[in-house]
Amino acid sequence: MKSEPSRTCLGCREARPKSGLVRLIRVGSGVVVVDAAGRAAGRGAYVCPDTACVERALIRGRLAHAFRKPCVASQDLAAAVTTAGRRDPKNRRDAASVREADVMAARV
Ligand SMILES: [Zn+2]
Repeated sequence: MKSEPSRTCLGCREARPKSGLVRLIRVGSGVVVVDAAGRAAGRGAYVCPDTACVERALIRGRLAHAFRKPCVASQDLAAAVTTAGRRDPKNRRDAASVREADVMAARV
């Protein structure tokens, strides 16, 4: 099997193949957006194309920690991430109930 670089999801902190994650980049104004092509220069952060992971990635301070600079998530970041992930059906996971339980636990 061909080895593929893995990256850690900012939401669930699990290492996954890079191709299964959505890349985020911080643009000049400090706004974090989806790097749809996955090739923008500079430091990137990665999340699963999963609402629960995006929500957790947006918890105060996580983006800033990843980019080592103050960040503001773009308004539609969660939607953009899930849309980007939807391009590839093999990335879809079906553990919706598990994810909801994870989010509940994260909020306690
Ligand atoms: Zn994740």
